[in-house]
Formats: sequence, structure tokens, C-alpha cells
Amino acid sequence: MTQNHRVTVPLIEARGISKAYPGTVALAPLSFSVKPGEKVAIAGPSGSGKTTLLELMACAIQADQGSLLLDGRDSGRLKPGRELSSLVGIINQGYDLVPNLPAIHNVLAGRLGDWSLLRSMVSLVRPRDRHLAEAALEELGMANKLMERTSHLSGGEQQRLAVARVIVQSPKIILADEPVSSLDPARAEDMLDLLTGLIDDSGVDGPVHNPDKVLIATLHSPEMILNFFTRVIGLRDGELQFDRPTGKVTIDDLDDLYLLAENRWPEGWVPGGAGGGLDRDSSSHGSAGVA
Ligand code: ADP
Ligand code: MG
Repeated sequence: MTQNHRVTVPLIEARGISKAYPGTVALAPLSFSVKPGEKVAIAGPSGSGKTTLLELMACAIQADQGSLLLDGRDSGRLKPGRELSSLVGIINQGYDLVPNLPAIHNVLAGRLGDWSLLRSMVSLVRPRDRHLAEAALEELGMANKLMERTSHLSGGEQQRLAVARVIVQSPKIILADEPVSSLDPARAEDMLDLLTGLIDDSGVDGPVHNPDKVLIATLHSPEMILNFFTRVIGLRDGELQFDRPTGKVTIDDLDDLYLLAENRWPEGWVPGGAGGGLDRDSSSHGSAGVA
């Protein structure tokens, strides 16, 4: 690891950011900062504000209150195009791919922030930076799908295409919304290896192989969170429940996030007495994957 050459200036600095929709507080005021090299999992039940938080960091929506600095710059003043795309890339839950185009064009969409309109249009006929798309798809085991129509690809392949696009974009802040939700456990682990490899020194030798980046992903599996991420932000009903290194989070902490309101332990009551009554030993997971 190269902790010593990692700078400590946060890539993300959120101070009291919040977002409400009519009748719903999607995210109550939240403050946190994320340093280069961190791999942050955001956990919480449906409707807890995870996607809203990612959308705020992707500058897809604006906070109602508070301030958000990305690499020291005010997120509200970032210009769409090169400035924003070099800073933040997001893999959305629906992948946002154009189904009628060959795979290569969807991958090279990651370069659009860097290209002029004319160059983008020429690229539709003769793909520019083809080698970048080839390298990214090869990394993902899809070299033979370069010219395949995107709509003909399987769900898992489309998901990898969305990852290839962010690899080609090479932003400092990589956001992924439920990147493993439609994958079986083995493929989910491969995907997380890949995404965390974009941050780790020991990861893939792709175009974004760089420890000066961060990965922030939403996901639900406690085991995968504890094995692949260095930090966990737990949300429920738009409120922060905890924000801790994974070494200080247990499987039970994560399970508790998902308990239905009527099943939550009454305040001050410890299940099974002071030692806790739950028989799962999460200590073996606690330090796994912590950088
Ligand atoms: P999660 O990703 O954890 O499921 P979301 O961030 O999508 O949660 O949503 C948090 C809350 O905000 C939910 O109650 C959701 O219905 C509401 N919400 C999210 N986006 C919108 C929107 N565009 N318009 C209205 N309500 C929204
Ligand atoms: Mg969501």
C-alpha cells in the first residue's frame, strides 16, 4: 500500500447538505468528508436516501441547504463537461446506456465530457479513442462484444459496460448505485473486486488505476460491505445512523439498519442481556478488507 503518498485533503467535503421533496425529507442535513483512497459503502433500506446522496455528489441534483465541495471546489459552480466529468462519474442503477448503439459507443460516452460536439458526432461514425474502449472491455472480459448492439447484451454485460464507461471517463470520484443488485453472489464479488480495484494499488492495471480516487457505492449485503469497503455510512429514513470504518461495524449493526420500525429494539433494551443475545459472531468479518 502507498498510504504515505496519499494526500489527506478530502475529495468530498459535505457540510449540512439536505434534500426534501414535497412531503418527504429524502436526506436530513448530513456532514462528512471522504479522503482519497477511501472505499465507502452506503447502506440502508429502500427510501433511506442512498440514491439522493449519490445524486447530490454526482451534481445531478442540488442540495436545498449546506455546501458540498468536490476536490475543494464548490459543486454548485462546476461546469458540466470536462470539469465535472474529470471529477465525478456515476454508474446509475439503470446503467443509462443507449440500447440501439454498439457497445463501443456506450463505453466511449465516458469521454464525452472531454470532447467537443463535433468530435462527439464524428465519433459516432468512426469511434475515437477506440483503444481506450478496447482496453476497458478487455479488462472486463468483454473484448469480443465491442461492436455488439447494446440491447443484445445480457443484464450482467450491460452492467459491465456501464463500468467500462466509468473506467474510460476516469473521474476522481466514482459513484455506483446498487452495482451488484442484479448479480448472483459470484458475479457480485467479481464486480466489487473490479470496482474496488479501481481505487486500490493492487487492483486492475486499467486506465483509472490510481489511489487518489474514491469509490462510493450503495449496496445491501453486510458481508460484501465488510469485505470490500473501508468505511460504511448507514442511513435510515434520510437520517444518518452511523459513519464508521468497517472495522468498527458489525453484521448486526448492518442488519439493525434494515429492521422494520415495529421490530426495532426499544431504546435502552439490550437483547439477551449485556453481552447481546444474537449468536452470530461478526468479528471475523470486522477487519476484513480494511485498508
Ligand atoms: P434509496 O435510494 O435509499 O431507496 P432515495 O434516495 O431514492 O432512497 O429516496 C429517498 C426518499 O426520497 C424516498 O422517500 C423517495 O420516495 C423520495 N424521492 C427520491 N427522489 C424523488 C423525486 N425525484 N421526487 C420525489 N420524491 C423523491
Ligand atoms: Mg436507491
